[in-house]
Amino acid sequence: MTSQPNKLAFNSGWQYAAAPEGTDHFSIGKRYGLFINGEFVKPATGKYFNTVNPATEEVLARVALAGDEDVDRAVAAARKAYKGVWSKMKAAERGKYIYRIARILQERAREFSVIESLDGGKPIRESRDIDIPLAAAHFFYYAGWADKLEYAFPGRKPAPLGVAGQIIPWNFPLLMAAWKIAPALACGNTVVLKPAETTPLTALKLAEVISEAGLPPGVVNIVTGAGKTGAAVVDHNDVDKVAFTGSTNVGRHIMMALAGTNKKYTLELGGKAANIVFADAAIDQAVEGIVNGIFFNQGHVCCAGSRLLVQESVADQVIAKLKDRMETLIVGDPLDKNTDIGAINSAPQLEKIESYLKIGQAEGAEMYQSSCSVPKKGYWCRPTIFTGVSQSNRIVQEEIFGPVLAIQTFRTLEEGLTKANNTPFGLSGGVWTDKGSKVFKMTQGIRAGVVWANTFNKFDPASPFGGYKESGVGREGGLHGLGAYLSLD
Ligand code: ADP
Repeated sequence: MTSQPNKLAFNSGWQYAAAPEGTDHFSIGKRYGLFINGEFVKPATGKYFNTVNPATEEVLARVALAGDEDVDRAVAAARKAYKGVWSKMKAAERGKYIYRIARILQERAREFSVIESLDGGKPIRESRDIDIPLAAAHFFYYAGWADKLEYAFPGRKPAPLGVAGQIIPWNFPLLMAAWKIAPALACGNTVVLKPAETTPLTALKLAEVISEAGLPPGVVNIVTGAGKTGAAVVDHNDVDKVAFTGSTNVGRHIMMALAGTNKKYTLELGGKAANIVFADAAIDQAVEGIVNGIFFNQGHVCCAGSRLLVQESVADQVIAKLKDRMETLIVGDPLDKNTDIGAINSAPQLEKIESYLKIGQAEGAEMYQSSCSVPKKGYWCRPTIFTGVSQSNRIVQEEIFGPVLAIQTFRTLEEGLTKANNTPFGLSGGVWTDKGSKVFKMTQGIRAGVVWANTFNKFDPASPFGGYKESGVGREGGLHGLGAYLSLD
């Protein structure tokens, strides 16, 4: 008998042997050009930048920095392909190309998973089981729609928009590329895509897949670079549609740049989702959902459940179980199949997260971190929770984009709902309860694009995704995602 008979002994002798995924089954080039008009070309700027493995700080490759002239070339190639080939092709033929991309992605899934983890820091378990299969699923899904657009929008005349300029973030690099490219192509548009500067490699590998699939030159163009390159895509006169996923701050700039133009746009921006646990929930499942909500992908998730609202009567129990569970999370080598939490994507992002840890403490909240050790080299943040926070605290109101959870309590359903909605964002939410009636009440009351019940962070190509308020404009995924790439007279 111990003095604490109910305390589970985690980490008491169970050690996982290292299980690293191999890196000898593919190669990464030393230097990548821009993918314009079906081939890799040198940038007119003559400049290249490093892309770094955030788990080791080693340079993986040098990547071309696209300037205005390069973006111009890419847009011209996309326009030519649009006019000459892609918009004229029979829709069923277009669909076949997109199916081909999906199938090649599946064939090369292992390679893509490892590169995604190397370049972005996410655990291989997630890139292998979530990012890459979902990316392929998006291509499959939209391939199927290519020749059925009239059925998607009965009585309307769906027509492509032209050239789509697409800017994506670093948290789900290949998946975001798929979210953008697949519906655009299915609807008959051509594309200029700008990947994020810290994670360009899988988009450049996707360029190889696109060549292998035999897409006509210029249908997909990929220009690498940072914010300035993105701005050049947004500002280009010959772009008909802008699709952006990233921070609310950059989203604001883009919206200002687009104001008064004829360009159609979708913006998928930040979030600060409430994950709401009622006393009648299956508590152990809810704890898994909390962990998945905030620690999945190091918390680099716009729809992360970064605020936990837990009903007061079970708060102590939930927090105690959560702390126990956090102790079991393995933080470390992204390529190890046992790893739960990988590296923070970049040095600036780690700096930002650490500044919020200081802000939270200065605001009077109590910080708890799991006791795991983290590697010496690379960018790491241990899973973190804050208790004793209040609604006005910055760690409750602002998006941190890291493995940091702010925990609040509530007594009544109305209080929970009011707190959940007291945020400038509205991307997602979660509800944990045994009662269907509460699920309906909460899902109707939460002002967010996606609300999960008794689960969290589930994605499907057929399901629309997008935000209210400062979380963005428009929807991606499903039928809604088609509408964003069409004119519907
Ligand atoms: P995060 O804060 O998550 O890094 P950002 O919004 O800064 O996200 O970046 C998302 C994407 O937007 C990246 O590809 C980035 O290069 C691009 N970007 C940054 N600034 C601009 C801008 N002013 N115009 C267009 N794209 C931009």
